[in-house]
Amino acid sequence: MNKKRMLFASSEVYPFVKTGGLADVSHSLPRALNESYAVSVVLPLYSSIDRKQFKIKPIESFEIAMGGALYPVELHGTMYENVEYRFIYAPLLCDREFLYGPPECGYEDNALRFGLFSYAIAELLRRESYAIAHLNDWQCALAALLVKQDSSIETKCVYTIHNLAYQGVFPPSLLPQIGINESYFTMDALEFYNQINFMKAGIAYADAVTTVSPTYAKEILTSEFGCGLEGFLHVHRRKLSGIINGIDSEYFSPSCDEALVEKYTNAKGKKSSKSDLLKQLGLKGTTKPLFAFIGRFTHQKGIDILVESLPKIAQMECNVVLLGEGEEGYHNSLAALAERYGNLHLSFGYDEALSHRMYAAADFLLMPSLFEPCGLNQMIAFAYGAVPIVNKVGGLADTVKKVETYDESTLFGYGVVFNSPTERSLVAAVKKSCELYGDKKYFEAVVNHNMKCDFSWSESAKAYQGIYARLSK
Ligand code: ADP
Repeated sequence: MNKKRMLFASSEVYPFVKTGGLADVSHSLPRALNESYAVSVVLPLYSSIDRKQFKIKPIESFEIAMGGALYPVELHGTMYENVEYRFIYAPLLCDREFLYGPPECGYEDNALRFGLFSYAIAELLRRESYAIAHLNDWQCALAALLVKQDSSIETKCVYTIHNLAYQGVFPPSLLPQIGINESYFTMDALEFYNQINFMKAGIAYADAVTTVSPTYAKEILTSEFGCGLEGFLHVHRRKLSGIINGIDSEYFSPSCDEALVEKYTNAKGKKSSKSDLLKQLGLKGTTKPLFAFIGRFTHQKGIDILVESLPKIAQMECNVVLLGEGEEGYHNSLAALAERYGNLHLSFGYDEALSHRMYAAADFLLMPSLFEPCGLNQMIAFAYGAVPIVNKVGGLADTVKKVETYDESTLFGYGVVFNSPTERSLVAAVKKSCELYGDKKYFEAVVNHNMKCDFSWSESAKAYQGIYARLSK
């Protein structure tokens, strides 16, 4: 039987380019869908992508008309792990130091850059017949509107919100340059507090809207988590659903991870990863619990709470290792704490191999996020036998069950769960974790149980397929 074609569009895809979880999902979900659909993944060919390493070859060139100007665009392609990849190259979109801009702000012309990417996606849909286009986050959102405007495109669009905090909001003066008629500058279309909002195009014009966990799908309908779009999402709630992300369980597997000093399959096997990391980072005490934080230094990830709590945590019998990059203020505060406390180590930057060694070495992973659409770190932590310590929001609420309710006969992962993002709750959770760690047998049983749980895409990929099938009947 001929498989239906699906175009999966994303602004970042691992291993070509990655700033966060979107890249992981855009790599692993298409792989999981590839058995049922003929999937092509499309992304910008940023200058940082190594064309040689990935054997990326030019396919064709064409021009895209956007807002009265003509932009030359090159289409490139490659196959990677049996999935077809398409790359859009245009100097405006691709020739930059960062993907979206330096840490504190986005590039001023991002509306044009990702407007052009959306036009290129629509052009691909026009040229090749796809049953489904799966568009991700604000960078691809305008494509949903372009598809609706063009009666020659029969493709159905699914739009996924990975993080409502990033909506792609720009001044209205840019409307003519992105070729969008002023009639769309209304509250029920793209207008948002007198600005243009790209994400609203995805929500309004896609045939189905998803987000990355069932709890986040409910949270974003409230003023606390809706980032100003709760009312608009409410209007479109009938086409909104939440599907939990998965992880690539072949890639995130301590039994075959090349980054580790010694591969392992159970709690006992983590020992050499722990002693090796402590030695590498100049920390002492292999018998003390090791807490890790891996992630972006932004408000969302609870860095304020972490900075407040670390002086108390560092005084407990433990070691703490932090890896990340982001806002300078946070970096400075964390660096000052690492300077002051000998059992606290900060690695600044983005380091995939070190992150894997940290998941493998850690007894606990700290995730005090204020909001978390899904979160992949806690699932990676389960796979590597680090017990997550989480604030009960979004995907963390859906994937981490309270360790007090541990039951070995379930398929759930267990962790230390707290209910409010405050310094007090986090310090109490870490104290509780130290006690849990002291109960060696019980702790080991929980770690071994978590490592066996399935956080792969198998179930969630089926949920997406259900949506595609319903739309393309
Ligand atoms: P985000 O909100 O950043 O997308 P997720 O939990 O969805 O958060 O995904 C984060 C992904 O990025 C995980 O694979 C995590 O291990 C990885 N990651 C985050 N920061 C770093 C870093 N500094 N170095 C290496 N990997 C990182």
